[in-house]
Amino acid sequence: MAGRALITGVGGQDGALLARLLLDQGYEVAGIVRREPAAYAESLGELRAAIELVEADLLDRDSLVAALRATRPVEVYNLAAPSFVPRSWDEPILTAEFAAVGATSMLEAIREVDPSIRFYQASSSEIFGEPRETPQTEETAPSPLTPYGVAKTYAHFITSSYRRRYGMFACCGILYNHESPLRPVDFLPRKVARAAAAISLGLERELVLGDLSARRDWGYAGDYVRAMWLMLQHDEPGDYIVATGESHSVEELVACAFDAVSLDWRDHVRSDPALYRGSAELHDLVGDASKARRVLGWAPEVRLDELMRMMVEADRARLQDAENAAS
Ligand code: NDP
Repeated sequence: MAGRALITGVGGQDGALLARLLLDQGYEVAGIVRREPAAYAESLGELRAAIELVEADLLDRDSLVAALRATRPVEVYNLAAPSFVPRSWDEPILTAEFAAVGATSMLEAIREVDPSIRFYQASSSEIFGEPRETPQTEETAPSPLTPYGVAKTYAHFITSSYRRRYGMFACCGILYNHESPLRPVDFLPRKVARAAAAISLGLERELVLGDLSARRDWGYAGDYVRAMWLMLQHDEPGDYIVATGESHSVEELVACAFDAVSLDWRDHVRSDPALYRGSAELHDLVGDASKARRVLGWAPEVRLDELMRMMVEADRARLQDAENAAS
């Protein structure tokens, strides 16, 4: 369904990758941003010229109504939210406002402007917190543990309740961790990729991490934004788990990153118990994406070793560019 698509959070990792995918599919792409559009020149790079940016406040339904009237989308992807889970303990109110109330404001704005607009909500595996079963499916009961997970659970249920009550084409993608070279360095896989790149270039010597036995289901963000788009192309709206279905330890992820630069991670990585996250966040989340495979024909294409190689190579190029610019 090409036409006009509107993305909130277009300046983030998924927003940029989704914008690129939609442009390639023939869409015109607009993005909602919270700061003046000029502030996104660097983060969006060459995409900036290809998409229209509109300033709006996720908590102000009227500003969202104005953005929808100005851009007239056929699809809206709601990706904007504070996304770094540990920080949600420092900013629980802000997290609740933007991740939970923000989704509600957008649904209300769509209902007013054009209820036939198709809506995608960025739901998260964090809604399962301490999972009742493994792997998790769309039927697994949410049991969030963090302010982020709780806020995303609210957004998840408000989306499905608008679907039932108003018949809106509204979908939730329950996405597990997904990474790319665009991931900020706060997040573990990017932190590891950057360190492996810096150590291989002789710029750093050691990487200190928390629990190396912690496990996650990590995928490639480029694969996951394709699932978002496929959800809005289907005949019926629904909720979908998007995951690789494979759990890997931090140690395995670290080994993949250092393999990419032909180094032995044991020579460079140390685990510090002071950095362990604790039981309010530690959990073993693995998703069963059978429904997305069966109904949408979606499957992840990039394996963890390929993903880490891609990220390490991008960081090596960035660091070398910075070195060259400084010399
Ligand atoms: P990023 O952190 O890279 O991007 C988040 C975007 O949201 C940014 O563009 C940011 O704007 C915007 N944003 C953050 N806070 C606000 C706010 N208060 N008001 C308006 N905009 C705001 O996240 P990702 O691209 O990785 O994730 C996209 C969505 O998917 C998020 O909702 C995230 O919670 C969810 N998700 C992500 C997963 C992952 O592994 N990546 C897993 C599951 C869900 P700005 O550019 O101005 O900073």
